[in-house]
Amino acid sequence: KGKKLAKSSSKEIKQAAVLGAGIMGGGIAYQSAVKGTPTVMKDIRQEALQLGLDEAAKILNKGMERGKVNARTLASTLNNIVPTLEYSTLKDADVVIEAVVENPKVKAAVLQETEQTVSKDAIICSNTSTISINSLAKSLQHPERFCGMHFFNPVHRMPLVEIIRGEKTSDETIAAVVAYALKMGKTPIVVNDCPGFLVNRVLFPYFAGFSQLLLDGADFVAVDKVMEKIFGWPMGPAYLIDVVGLDTADHAAGVMADGIPERMQRIANDPVQSLYQAGRLGQKNGKGFYNFG
Ligand code: NAD
Repeated sequence: KGKKLAKSSSKEIKQAAVLGAGIMGGGIAYQSAVKGTPTVMKDIRQEALQLGLDEAAKILNKGMERGKVNARTLASTLNNIVPTLEYSTLKDADVVIEAVVENPKVKAAVLQETEQTVSKDAIICSNTSTISINSLAKSLQHPERFCGMHFFNPVHRMPLVEIIRGEKTSDETIAAVVAYALKMGKTPIVVNDCPGFLVNRVLFPYFAGFSQLLLDGADFVAVDKVMEKIFGWPMGPAYLIDVVGLDTADHAAGVMADGIPERMQRIANDPVQSLYQAGRLGQKNGKGFYNFG
């Protein structure tokens, strides 16, 4: 379906830009660049840009060691990533993907500034995990050129991209973003705007079931072992929550409980929330369900 939609695309993405050079922005810029699209990577901090570039170089060097990347790809990918602190560098971008901090006010300001800088037919996307695409669209004068483009961490390894259609998003915008996701080597799915989009709507009932099991006295290591060894999943729920971040998981659970209370209720004394409130954020600070060395 994605390929069919992409074929009818009116707009080819020849130049891209990513706002935010953090975990996600850096990963998206790398993935866009490695598949041949020159990509501006903008942040407000020079250190963040350097970290984004270092991360791209690390992935490429690992690929070289494994014989999967050659010297030419390494050079052309790094050449394709254009780090910047200036908005004006976005003016030639066919698509701009916003991946700044998960704060609606910051995102709204960034989207407005982006719209003032880019050409009138440039497409604007947000990589938000939890903020409504329809509400973000309100900060734009031309919401028809806007949609969600939600990648998963780590971007270079996770195939799926959720493309979220807002009420005002045009078919042309969706077609062009589907084509761009395919060019990036990803598997796009087009979904409507709702709390949790599609993936978190599937994932969070599973996390809620896991939390209930813990409250019933289950051992999280045993649950992980069952999911890994018997179900064959790459990791169990405790480890996955550590990778996602307990702060992020708690926030997303709250967004869904607020948005669709008839489907997703907050769990009283949720162990994920208790651990988060005790300062255990998961892999990002070295301690979550597990301790990381
Ligand atoms: P992060 O904190 O690693 O990176 C955010 C970056 O944005 C920082 O480098 C910061 O300096 C920069 N920034 C802040 N304000 C800016 C501005 N005005 N202009 C340009 N850059 C600015 O965060 P992250 O984990 O990469 O998350 C970014 C977005 O991606 C969030 O919306 C988040 O919900 C979403 N997301 C995160 C994940 C994940 O697993 N981390 C997965 C999917 C989506």
